[in-house]
Amino acid sequence: MTPEQADAKEEPSRAGPEWALRLQLAACYRIFAELGWTELIYNHITVRLPGPEGHFLINPFGLHYTEVCASNLVKIDIEGNRIGPSIWPVNPAGFTVHAALHRGIGAAHCVMHTHTTAGMAVACSAAGLSMSNFYSAQLHDKVAYHDFEGITLHAEEGPRLVAAIADRPAVILRNHGLLAWGRTIPQAFSILWLLNRACEIQVASMAMGAVVPIPVDIQKRCTRDALQFDPRFGAGEDVFAALVRRIDRIDPSYQR
Ligand SMILES: [Zn+2]
Repeated sequence: MTPEQADAKEEPSRAGPEWALRLQLAACYRIFAELGWTELIYNHITVRLPGPEGHFLINPFGLHYTEVCASNLVKIDIEGNRIGPSIWPVNPAGFTVHAALHRGIGAAHCVMHTHTTAGMAVACSAAGLSMSNFYSAQLHDKVAYHDFEGITLHAEEGPRLVAAIADRPAVILRNHGLLAWGRTIPQAFSILWLLNRACEIQVASMAMGAVVPIPVDIQKRCTRDALQFDPRFGAGEDVFAALVRRIDRIDPSYQR
């Protein structure tokens, strides 16, 4: 069955806050694909749905990010069980990490995780993120580290991950990859973009030899001034909206 045939079989209501979040999350998957932040059919971006039920949206397991659309996103509970009609399965290993954050951090409405080459390279380096570039300098005291415990299938790792993160929104999963969380999809996206960009610059700059460190007081000032964290400047909303408009021009099929 193709994604198009499957979509015809499942029709979530196209009204209300759930549909709005479906559209925004589907657009986010397409943005990740445009940025090259994909890992075959793996990795996830999840968002909490409003309401007391404690439901979430996740990508259908088996589809590339370019095939994700608003109607084929799968609604699940915190255990990863599917809610409502969907022919698509969910990757249980993938949701374990997301569930830990959604469960343990009240403000983690959106969680996103990538295996980009630059992000994984920094995650594998013993020194971690170098506070020596324009982007990392905006993440002073915002970066958490969590030690590798193997493929993230086991829920018992969750409390250790949440404790390691505390309130820091940019997370380096050692030996593994990057993760970001936020109150909204655009906020989490802007943090992940900053972290990934910092990793890209680190990989490029350190390949040339020693880098110039940035003093802590300058890091603090950069983080205070960073537009990504300041609601007065959109906290990522304006950036995300511009990228959605770009996806609208390239391939609006995510709205299906
Ligand atoms: Zn991973």
